[in-house]
Amino acid sequence: MNTFRNKIIFIFSALSILLVGLLILSFERLVITQMYKQIGEEIRNEINLYETALRDIDENSFQDFISHTRDLISKMGYSIYFVSKNNRILININGEEENYLVKPDAFKLVSSQSSGRFFYEVIKSKESGERLFVVRKRVSDFQNNHYLKEVNQIVFISNLNRLDKFSKDLRTQILLYGLLIFILGLLAIRYLSRIFSDPIVQFIEYLKDYRQNGYTKKLELNRKDEFKFLADSINQLIEKIEEDFNALRKLEKYRSEFLGNVSHELRTPLFTIQSLLETLTEGAIDDPAVNKTYLVKAQENLERLNRLLNDLIDISYIESKKLRMSFRYFEIRGLIEKVVEDLRLLANQKKINLQFIPDDSIIELAFGDKERLYQVLYNLVDNAIRHNPEGTNVKIYFMKVDSKIRIFVEDNGIGIPEEDLPRIFERFYRVDKERSREAGGTGLGLAIAKHIVEAHESKIFVESQVNKGTKFYFDLNCA
Ligand code: ATP
Ligand code: MG
Repeated sequence: MNTFRNKIIFIFSALSILLVGLLILSFERLVITQMYKQIGEEIRNEINLYETALRDIDENSFQDFISHTRDLISKMGYSIYFVSKNNRILININGEEENYLVKPDAFKLVSSQSSGRFFYEVIKSKESGERLFVVRKRVSDFQNNHYLKEVNQIVFISNLNRLDKFSKDLRTQILLYGLLIFILGLLAIRYLSRIFSDPIVQFIEYLKDYRQNGYTKKLELNRKDEFKFLADSINQLIEKIEEDFNALRKLEKYRSEFLGNVSHELRTPLFTIQSLLETLTEGAIDDPAVNKTYLVKAQENLERLNRLLNDLIDISYIESKKLRMSFRYFEIRGLIEKVVEDLRLLANQKKINLQFIPDDSIIELAFGDKERLYQVLYNLVDNAIRHNPEGTNVKIYFMKVDSKIRIFVEDNGIGIPEEDLPRIFERFYRVDKERSREAGGTGLGLAIAKHIVEAHESKIFVESQVNKGTKFYFDLNCA
């Protein structure tokens, strides 16, 4: 697989091989070449020394010199020969490499070089593969010493075994250390790539899972570095996406629910009107016992339809934030009196004791949209009348609280169960569906009231206890 880790390992391996190769090459070039040079120089000096020392030496001293040199030479690992013009060995000082001189065909020339009277050669035994380093110097100054007269060349032969072994050892050592570093490097990469690629793999797995199965869990990462930060960010992002998504789903659900509710609410009064009119046209119109009642009922349903449509228009304005308000100072007492007046008939019909207790000490004007506030108060009082049984007392009053006017609509009726309280301001929400619909409600009144009060930068509150009663109140700014 073309993973992050594999790429690093590949690059690292290539670099390691290159590095070890370069190291070996440069060692060969620098160290080994240097050593050749040094050996060459050493031998050259040696030969020069010999030449000078032997130029005028007498025969006895020469024998001394030879025996003395023999010891030295064996320690230094050279073979030294004095050779005649026709390649015959005249003197061998402890030499063991004379094969080259005797049987030159058994060797292969590897490289050769000459400078002045010196010849340098590297040769290789065809048989054993051993390499020899041969340095010759042509000499001509031994004419005075009759015993050295025939000497034409001094030849130093050095076996390169040791050097070759050294260079081989060096190479194996570099390779070995290279291998060690390589293995350590691989381990380090394994460790490092775990640090880097494990969380990335985790991210990929998580996102794959998220794409396939949706949001099921948070991305957990057991570390404290930048990856943790990244994981947190991913979590936050996904949470935000989920939130938006849920809101969208909710909106979608709400929309279809709303549509269902609306059609349902419209259908009931329409059907009632339709069947009433049908009954009337089919003959009931001539029956004085029912004809008037039927018409009145049809009218009531039309009114309900009208109210419903008005509420729906309000709701749609509120939803699209197009509800226009016109704020003015007005007398709160007059407004409440009008609401009470308009609902007096209904209250009497339902035998509800409707009572407005004005506080004459409050002379301030309230500030708000009078028409819309009429709607709010109408609905609150209307609710208190409609949703409560005969004999219930409904009280409306207001008072100054801080610098505001607080208006109360209070009844001692059936109350609202605690679990329903937070929901009664939702659209179409009714505590007891059947009873509320019979009471003529669609469940839009409080939703509209809440919006209107909030548009006055205020809040509507409710306190209620089952069988004890309900109290709604809200504040208005005042002059
Ligand atoms: P609409 O006002 O649209 O004609 P509604 O009166 O049913 O219909 P809301 O005014 O929103 O709707 O009231 C919601 C529900 O809250 C009512 O259906 C009723 O169950 C409950 N409710 C409201 N006021 C009272 C009250 N004073 N006493 C008992 N229950 C109430
Ligand atoms: Mg209502």
